[in-house]
This record gives sequence, C-alpha cells and structure tokens, in this order.
Amino acid sequence: MNKSDDLAVHIRVESALIEEQNQDELPGITEGEIIVIRSARRKRNIAAYRQGGRIVVSIPARLSKSDERSVVPEMVAKIRAQEARSSDQSVLAGRIEDLLANLAPEMTERPISVNWRKMQERWGSCTSVDGTVRISDRLQRAPKHVLDFVLFHEAIHLRYGDHGRQFQALLARFPERERAQAYLDGYEAAEDALLPPNLPN
Ligand SMILES: [Zn+2]
Repeated sequence: MNKSDDLAVHIRVESALIEEQNQDELPGITEGEIIVIRSARRKRNIAAYRQGGRIVVSIPARLSKSDERSVVPEMVAKIRAQEARSSDQSVLAGRIEDLLANLAPEMTERPISVNWRKMQERWGSCTSVDGTVRISDRLQRAPKHVLDFVLFHEAIHLRYGDHGRQFQALLARFPERERAQAYLDGYEAAEDALLPPNLPN
C-alpha cells in the first residue's frame, strides 16, 4: 500500500461523503470542513488532525458506515476541544504579559505555562519553581477585570511566594482590585449559601 492508493481512496470517499451529507448531515459538522480518509493500512486506530481549514479523519478502510458516523463527529469534537484549550492558554499567557508589562515592568519573571484547572478551594495557584500558573475554571465566565486580578496575583507569586509587604505593594497597582475582590467574595458567599446545610450527627 502506498501514498497514491491512499489518495485514490480519499478522493472517492470524499465525494461519497459529500453526497451522503446532502441527504443527512453529520451532527455538528458543516459540510466541506472535514475529510474522511479510509486507509487500508489502518487496522483499527483512528487519527484526526487539522490540515488548513479542514479536519482530516483517517479511519480503517473496513470500518462500517454506522461506526464512521459515530466516530467522525467524536474525533472532530476532540480536535476542536484541543484547539480551544490551546488558544485559551495563549490568551491567558498574553494577558499576564500585558499586566506585567503595564503594572510591574520591573518584573522579568514569566510563567512557562498558564492553564485552566478545576479548582473549588482556590481562585488560582502558582508554582514558581517550574513557572506554572493555574486558574480556577470557575473564572471562565468572570468579568475581564476579575480574571485579570487573579492572573496578576498569581503572576506576582512568580517572584514573591508569600503575601508579604512586597507582594502587596505590587498587587496594589491593580486599578480595579476592590471591585474584583468584591466579585470574588460575593461568588464565594453565594457558593457557601448554596451548599446543603450541615446535618447534625
Ligand atoms: Zn496568593
């Protein structure tokens, strides 16, 4: 089996797929943005990757049509989720860059990675040793100034591990810190209020 065999299969399948989509579109997928390759070389594994504006899904040639219809949307969703995560991360890193450049230009420390993390107890955390900043996913829909406040707080931890005087002096440069802190306090109070009551033993 060589490349041109694969290509022939691909062209045939692509035209077949477009016909099929005209009758009944795959859920969540706009016509023309995915290419399904049926590869005779592939025995069982399925691969998906981005190629320009399209997502290519490579499946074993013998996979049934009904398996294809369930597996292709799944793989496309996986690629899109990956892309959303990495763009989120670069957005968060870009925000930290702006905040430090504007508010704390003397700081040269930068995080190696900034990620969303499922965290209920904290709004963010910073490990200065490996330069990782994690932000609670509860902030994904928070107003910009609130997310910026938490990002700035964690970024300062790259230099200062505690909440001492030097840390506070830098944090005080954040213009909307009282409003941001009020949002966070209010959010926590609402979470506490919504917890089921502690029943006596
Ligand atoms: Zn802190």
